Amino acid sequence: MSTEILFDSWDREHLWHPYTSTIDPLPTYKVSSASGARIRLADGRELIDGMSSWWCAIHGYSNKRLIEAAGRQLEKMSHVMFGGLTHEPAIELGKELLKVAPPGMHNIFYADSGSVAVEVAMKMAVQAAVSASGSHKKTNFATIRSGYHGDTWNAMSVCDPVTGMHGAFGTALPVRWFVPQPRSRFGGEWEAADIEPMARLLKEKSDELAAVILEPVVQGAGGMWFYHPQYLRELRRLCDEHGVLLIFDEIATGFWRTGRFFAWEHVGVEPDIMCIGKGLSAGMLTMAAVLTTKAVADTISRGEAGVLMHGPTFMGNPLSCAIALESLRMLNEQDMASRLEEIEGILKEELAPAAKLPGVEDVRVLGSIGVVEVKRGVDVGKFQKECVRRGVWIRPFGRNVYVMPPYVIDEADLRRLCRELVEIVSDESKY
Ligand SMILES: *Cc1c(COP(=O)(O)O)cnc(C)c1O
Repeated sequence: MSTEILFDSWDREHLWHPYTSTIDPLPTYKVSSASGARIRLADGRELIDGMSSWWCAIHGYSNKRLIEAAGRQLEKMSHVMFGGLTHEPAIELGKELLKVAPPGMHNIFYADSGSVAVEVAMKMAVQAAVSASGSHKKTNFATIRSGYHGDTWNAMSVCDPVTGMHGAFGTALPVRWFVPQPRSRFGGEWEAADIEPMARLLKEKSDELAAVILEPVVQGAGGMWFYHPQYLRELRRLCDEHGVLLIFDEIATGFWRTGRFFAWEHVGVEPDIMCIGKGLSAGMLTMAAVLTTKAVADTISRGEAGVLMHGPTFMGNPLSCAIALESLRMLNEQDMASRLEEIEGILKEELAPAAKLPGVEDVRVLGSIGVVEVKRGVDVGKFQKECVRRGVWIRPFGRNVYVMPPYVIDEADLRRLCRELVEIVSDESKY
């Protein structure tokens, strides 16, 4: 069979894929369809999906209920501007979101992607901080290292300065304050020293800081690290003490990915502003949202501008809202806590043998996220070639080989996904 079926040369010549060279691009495999937890390649082979298309496809692919919800909404209207108009899908989705969000959340801003949600959250924080303090100095941000918050300008500026894009953009990026990531593990002992760098920073710089932004409990693409919830309890107290807002970026962690609806539930303290995305629209269409308290929303509205200064063209897109609403209903109809416990149990069992391998640094599992951290950087092209040969789809990043499958994956597929991962990792010549 010609390789042209699987590797399209026009694509290779003309289409940019994520973080890709035009001179020496990694192979991109052509997909013809996907359903459940399986991706079908153009040459007919099927892959077990370990990525949920970057945390999104929580109900798997081609879900009938989501397709029908989309179809019903398409018949009515695919889009209508949100300036001066509103609609049932946006209202109903908002109501459902507030039922599952931290109780303090009161106002919702619909954004079109995770990165845009992060931009909006940061703009909210600046407008609120300036309005509350009357000082135009209180506009900067602090975060922890190894975070990932997206690819737009301000989102990039708070991504990890080493694994993120600071190298490529240098002084073009606003300069943020970074402190080391907490090293106390989720489920391990709390080391009080973890919070000290952040405590010092907040003490010294609070008059310049609008907010602290971070991913609660699970740091995703920046390091796949699970840290101790006590860090966030201490951080909440410090933020209150120093008058700095707290932003939780739950774009990756939301919609049951960590075994709770949102990761803040592991912690029990609420943010002032929260970003959600990815799983929100279940991998059907792009959508994200920013939630905040009435206090923050009203402070912004009492400020100089009198309004929140953002309003994207596709804000509150009815089609995305209708899909997200149906997805939320599906989650709420199931016992997701038990489902996630099941997935977590299988991931733990199947990935545990990797911990004994000489090339492996660490194995960690939380909810439906399973991470095998290897000792040296992975050659993604080589690794993926081996994955495809074995019928699984995994895309490692840096030294982390991880899976976060759709929740609909069946037990046999999940076990096979993990076993293939462990087998590849056990042979260093494969990556
Ligand atoms: C993916 C991600 C983003 C960016 O979302 P996009 O939809 O890719 O723009 C932001 N924050 C976190 C934690 C993410 O995982």
